[in-house]
Amino acid sequence: MSASRSTKLRTRVVHAGRHPADNHGVVNPPVYHASTILKPTMADRAAGQSAPPHSYRDGRMPTPTYGRSGTPTTYAFEEAVTLLYDADDVVAVPSGLAAITVGLLAVLKAGDHLLMTDTAYFPTRKFCDQVLADYGIETTYYDPRIGGAIATLIRDNTRVVYTESPGSLTFEIQDIPAIAEAAHARDAAVMMDNTWGTPLYCRPFALGVDIVNEAVTKYIGGHSDLMMGVIASTERYAGAVRSTARLHGHYVAPDELYLAQRGLRTLSVRLKQNEETGIAMARWLEARPEVAAVLHPALESHPDHALWKRDFSGASGLFSIVLKPLPEVAYAAFVDGLELFGMGASWGGFESLVKPGNPGAERTATPWPYEGPLIRFHAGLEDIDDLIADLEAGFDRLNAITKAAA
Ligand SMILES: *Cc1c(COP(=O)(O)O)cnc(C)c1O
Repeated sequence: MSASRSTKLRTRVVHAGRHPADNHGVVNPPVYHASTILKPTMADRAAGQSAPPHSYRDGRMPTPTYGRSGTPTTYAFEEAVTLLYDADDVVAVPSGLAAITVGLLAVLKAGDHLLMTDTAYFPTRKFCDQVLADYGIETTYYDPRIGGAIATLIRDNTRVVYTESPGSLTFEIQDIPAIAEAAHARDAAVMMDNTWGTPLYCRPFALGVDIVNEAVTKYIGGHSDLMMGVIASTERYAGAVRSTARLHGHYVAPDELYLAQRGLRTLSVRLKQNEETGIAMARWLEARPEVAAVLHPALESHPDHALWKRDFSGASGLFSIVLKPLPEVAYAAFVDGLELFGMGASWGGFESLVKPGNPGAERTATPWPYEGPLIRFHAGLEDIDDLIADLEAGFDRLNAITKAAA
């Protein structure tokens, strides 16, 4: 029993990567703690070491040779995510950021040029500026809404066009098919950070992407208790991605892999609730007089709503609002007094979160048009009525201070 590529995604979420018949009928994959893996004969050892480049596409499992390069616990999770993405291969790495850096380093070498979306997750940007620059790889930041006009920025040495849709903090949707067409015309690879959409709500390979990275830390993990990333790739890049991850020494511990596959099984029902609650919060916030803009692509008012409808089949629970300009103390009174929205980095867990952001300070290719502060929300699995009441009390605190100051 396992899931095939002909089953629906919600079925694959439940069945992919599980092989109970191989494990005494136990429903979940076993957790192997291993460094040394013994081989009975020299011939067995040689067979493991000379195995052909691996791909989960044909349903074949790798041969374990050493803990660092994986055990059946690793294979169970990687196979599941390969099936979910319709990828050729998936490699698990210790964080979402490692998935980004391994994907980039698998393709780029000294003298190459990288086109990076201006709205990338901020540590991605720091990696380009602080690490890739030292390796002789030049980065140009581009407007996330550039679409097919990316062609004008592609040089002979441009090897990667990196995308993230929607953009971190500000939720611009990118025209990935138009970008992919322009990139492929010059033989550049297209990478995409798909942490927001997950394989359930966005199908990057169908849009022309070559290498997908996702922070498992967020929705697949789903319980704010693990760090992990995955890199999914097409056949052309799969071998380079896997060997880059291995040669950098990346390794994911078995208990983390176990938790990740356990989180995966409920991804579709959790995400549906994050989506519903997020949209309800966004609509309620859009009607508030204190709010200058709600940045949520599922709202009709979002400038990229049509692109989102074309390329995504749902919205996760993460979005931002921009407040009208207000005194810092009023802003702090709103955020600090929230009872159900914890303030913290990360998202995708069962709980609601709030995080102040300052995109204007992090961008170089696109001006930030708003004067007031940005607040990012994650809609968790709490009851929507309680979340709205918490936000409403926040606006009462905010207004009490702005009125006293006026
Ligand atoms: C959190 C995040 C990452 C990085 O994931 P970590 O597991 O925290 O390293 C990458 N991309 C996006 C869009 C994220 O939100």
